[in-house]
Amino acid sequence: MAQVTPMMKQYLEIKAQYEDAFLFFRLGDFYELFNEDAIKASRELEITLTARGQSETRIPMCGVPHHAAENYMTRLIEKGYKVAICEQVEDPETAKGVVKREVVKLLTPGTMMSDRFIQEKENNYLSTIHLCEDGTYGVAFADLSTGEGRVTVTGDEQEDAVQEVLASKSKEVIVASTSDTSLLDRLKKERQLTISFEDELDDQQEYAWVYKDLKQSKLEATYARLLRYLVRTQKRSLAHLQPATYYASSSYLKMDQHTKRNLELTETLREKRKQGSLLSIVDQTVTAMGGRMLRQWIERPLVSKDQIVDRQSAVETFLTHFFEREELRDELKAVYDLERLAARVAYGSVSPRELVQLKRSLQRLPAIKQLLVNMKADFAKDWFNDSDTYQQIADLLDKSLIEDAPISLKEGGIIQSGYHDDLDTYRDASANGKQWIAELEAKERQVTGIRTLKVGYNRVFGYYIEITRANAASIPEGRYERKQTLTNAERFVTPELKEKEALILEANDQTEKLEYNLFVEIRDQVKTFVPDLQRLARHMSELDVYASFATVSEQRRYVKPTFSEDRKITLVNNRHPVVETVIPRGQYVPNDVSMGEDRGMLLLTGPNMGGKSTYMRQLALSAVMAQIGCYVPADEADLPVFDQIFTRIGAADDLASGQSTFMVEMLETKHALTKATQNSLLLLDEIGRGTSTYDGMALAQAIMEFIHDRIQAKTMFSTHYHELTEMEHSLTQLQNIHVSAAEQDGHVVFLHKVIDGPADRSYGIYVAELAGLPHTVTARAEKLLAELEGAERETAASIDQSVETVQPTEIAESDHQLSLFASDDDEKVSKKAPTKKEKQVLAAI
Ligand code: ADP
Repeated sequence: MAQVTPMMKQYLEIKAQYEDAFLFFRLGDFYELFNEDAIKASRELEITLTARGQSETRIPMCGVPHHAAENYMTRLIEKGYKVAICEQVEDPETAKGVVKREVVKLLTPGTMMSDRFIQEKENNYLSTIHLCEDGTYGVAFADLSTGEGRVTVTGDEQEDAVQEVLASKSKEVIVASTSDTSLLDRLKKERQLTISFEDELDDQQEYAWVYKDLKQSKLEATYARLLRYLVRTQKRSLAHLQPATYYASSSYLKMDQHTKRNLELTETLREKRKQGSLLSIVDQTVTAMGGRMLRQWIERPLVSKDQIVDRQSAVETFLTHFFEREELRDELKAVYDLERLAARVAYGSVSPRELVQLKRSLQRLPAIKQLLVNMKADFAKDWFNDSDTYQQIADLLDKSLIEDAPISLKEGGIIQSGYHDDLDTYRDASANGKQWIAELEAKERQVTGIRTLKVGYNRVFGYYIEITRANAASIPEGRYERKQTLTNAERFVTPELKEKEALILEANDQTEKLEYNLFVEIRDQVKTFVPDLQRLARHMSELDVYASFATVSEQRRYVKPTFSEDRKITLVNNRHPVVETVIPRGQYVPNDVSMGEDRGMLLLTGPNMGGKSTYMRQLALSAVMAQIGCYVPADEADLPVFDQIFTRIGAADDLASGQSTFMVEMLETKHALTKATQNSLLLLDEIGRGTSTYDGMALAQAIMEFIHDRIQAKTMFSTHYHELTEMEHSLTQLQNIHVSAAEQDGHVVFLHKVIDGPADRSYGIYVAELAGLPHTVTARAEKLLAELEGAERETAASIDQSVETVQPTEIAESDHQLSLFASDDDEKVSKKAPTKKEKQVLAAI
């Protein structure tokens, strides 16, 4: 340590406070990184690693020019790192000793606001998990770019809190450094999540307004951790934060991460793209803020029938007023992202150009209001009680700002003439000076008779009179003062010219300064309206989403669902909202779903590729669409309001996490079995397929019985085990259905039509053929199958329904059913473990 220079000493002291961040240390025109930071950054950013200092004390170093630094910093943040920006906070010219430096800002994935980093139509949430004194977990979120904040308490199970964070797609989560290792280990599994620590929970009196709606101390304590972190990292005003709101997690339809992913609500399973998700279909929004609201709605559908019906009626208003709706969407297209503009106003980072955008947005309001009146849009009747406020802001901006104001606030060209007297005076002075100079050229040409005489300007010499060398002899003696000699010309000045020049420059300088000050004044005035703008932003987003729902419902012929109180599902001609758009027009086969009193559970069989998982998904998606207030892809729809949806459908995408597919499947099933209620919807595809036939079948049956007897949730299973279709006889709520296929001239045609009853065969070999398996294999499999089927006919094997597992109350009925089938069961033989041949066939399929 004795060897380190005073500057390095300063560096190390600061670095010690920001262990978990890259410290960008300002040195003149560069930001430098040292030691470990330098080694890691040079690797991550592909920049050259050098060294500083004398041989034995040399330390690794790398640097980036300050004007390009934002780019490098953003790249690190995108990779989930943090960046502390350390600036010189005193003038190096006047500083004694080492220039004073301070960290002025800590950039983190959850607090980024730069346009490059955040997506227009997505929120960037920072979240926290806080263990409350009573052992429950508080979870809070804030989006710094919009000022939105929300808090909830998820209960005493850690996983529920984690799921809540994951559901928000937060990039960063804040926890106490004293947190349980089990919580930290769990969070570390989520690679996209940066973990940060914040301990002090002191009173944030300064931010009392942020807490004002949180009535419980544990909500406050939870939000305080988050706020405290923001204060520490942002080091600037957080005046734009909206009061944090409480929400009960039970006020939304619950779906775990697997379910959301499986249903491809906001992104596809494989490519993780929006294109191909439910969101991409229903998103016809025309503003970024509307896009964000829609995404939030899809992530958190409602469970209150009244709230859903309110949204539906707004959508209906838009549906019945086609022309007004289209006009309104045109108006909305001219409305900028008010929510983020408001945040930037409050943050003090709004540019002149953005304030003009704000003005233009506000100028759309009278027309929007009129359209809503014409539509008799009841839901919006109180929205424009503050029209005057908005008008006032628009007027202020309209009379003060130049229409094409720049992004920069340093170079003038911001404020209109007529707005401020002094500014007009400076501008006149400058204009007069320029006018005088413009006239000078004509006058001097006349006096000297030199027709090529020019008046010019450059930054170094200011204004000058230029005369070509050839004409130099004709200059009247003593008229000008020589300033500069070029190859072909001479440049001159006169005292009068210099005087005017000084006047112009002074006036320009004053203009810029004054424009800057006036702009800041205007910005501060607008700042007092930030809460109004935030409210307006919410209303405009809502309009945008309703109009979007109406548009898509009309284009794709969706129907308004009703909500039954008796837990019945009736969907007539239901379609999968995404699949129907990707297959050729008219080829999608719509299907009914009917689950009523005696059909609480459906067992779906049928060939691979027959449309089973599509059918299951379309039910779940229709339920989600109904509960966000949208219409649904069907001709008729009556649904319960579900409290939770669990799905176990389709490809396992968790292989990367190191758990076996089967284990993942069982974990998800456990989750469903422990959390589901009779108001839930369960969709379980091919349960038990990841283990041996008998294991799998036994598990599937036991799971079905458990759901049937204990949970009584609306459930759809699909299975390959034909044996399970026999359960229809023992489980009163269970009905077999299947996707149909037909054989034509030796070819299988998938009809995609779902009909009652079990499927008769599975066409696995045909699908294997479609997939291009060698003909030798499929031909051999055909042969083996024929043999097996022959053997089966002989023994008339069927699965032994274990009567022991049936509840006592159901025995009578089951007995009755068994006796009905007595003729088939005469030769009932309990099925053997699969034979070698069966295994070969299974392997071939
Ligand atoms: P399974 O789950 O039975 O293996 P999928 O549901 O994955 O089958 O469907 C296979 C393919 O069949 C889908 O990708 C889709 O292209 C098509 N398909 C499914 N259902 C329908 C339908 N109702 N109408 C038309 N095509 C369908």
